[in-house]
Amino acid sequence: MVVIRGATTVGHDDKESIQSGVGELLEQIVSRNSLLRDEILSIVFSSTSDIHSYYPAKAAREAGFSGCSLFSAQEPDIEGGLPLCIRVMLFVEKDLTPHHVYLHEATSLRKDIVGVYNIAIDGPAGSGKSTVARALAHDYHICYLDTGAMYRACALAAVGAGVDVEDEVAVSELMHNVKLEVVYEADVQRTILNGKDVSEEIRRPEVSMAASAISKHPSVRMRMVEKQREIAARMSCVLDGRDIGTFVLPDAEFKFFLTARPEVRAKRRYDELTAKGNKVDLKALQEEILRRDKQDSTRAVAPLRMAEDAVLVDTSDMTVDEVLAYIKHAIQEKI
Ligand code: C5P
Repeated sequence: MVVIRGATTVGHDDKESIQSGVGELLEQIVSRNSLLRDEILSIVFSSTSDIHSYYPAKAAREAGFSGCSLFSAQEPDIEGGLPLCIRVMLFVEKDLTPHHVYLHEATSLRKDIVGVYNIAIDGPAGSGKSTVARALAHDYHICYLDTGAMYRACALAAVGAGVDVEDEVAVSELMHNVKLEVVYEADVQRTILNGKDVSEEIRRPEVSMAASAISKHPSVRMRMVEKQREIAARMSCVLDGRDIGTFVLPDAEFKFFLTARPEVRAKRRYDELTAKGNKVDLKALQEEILRRDKQDSTRAVAPLRMAEDAVLVDTSDMTVDEVLAYIKHAIQEKI
């Protein structure tokens, strides 16, 4: 028999928060340990004394964990303890090395086993990186760092200041006066340029080519790479970009390289942009994507390239859920 431990925190002491917190914690434990529900003999919960609205054991039963014995207890009120915390022990009839799971604020309880880890997802435009990276970060409760947004913000600054993005000297000078911040609001990355939120503006199609042009300048790249490394060292992240696995974080724990046929990538971008009300021409978009691929993969510094130890995923004929399942499985295999 094996004992798997876990903990999570909930936003509020109410039935819904406790039900969703318990459901999420148990689902994560099951998926990270590849468990079948009938391999679970019993589940024991304890919760901090500020939780009284609902029994975690009842929430577990409602989440479908009904074939095992369930028990909830309340912990003493200890000063300085983590508020609104639910701990769990699962007794399992299986020979495995347990993966303990700590979510939300509860990650602070077990830094030793949670640790900081990074998932690098590289690939060309439209390969599905950002959708998958965002979903992975959400499911693993870690941060999503969209590094393309940083180059896009630099490009926007240059275009706004009337600086030619091809002119490295002028761009480099401008960068000294640019304040670029990446902040998170309700887990969503916002890109702040000189105090202004430009998260939507940087998505405009004309910014894409300018971002690709500006990102080839070593002085711009090094500034961005330094910021990216600093964020990734502080917290676990999924980073998407072109050079994460090869240059930014060559030691990233998990590396993937996503690709797809050019016409599929162009169609994805077309759908994305038209859904936002942009008028775009599919053929022109495909040509732009190919030019960008060429520019990104032939530049001298940190070009778009697959890391030797990355897992290649051709997403052309896969749904988002399929890509996500494939990547999660590959991560699970490597743990
Ligand atoms: O991924 P996204 O399309 O937002 O990236 C915009 C541009 O930024 C890319 O075409 C590429 O030139 C540049 N980029 C980069 N390195 C990264 C991320 C993006 O050079 N890590």
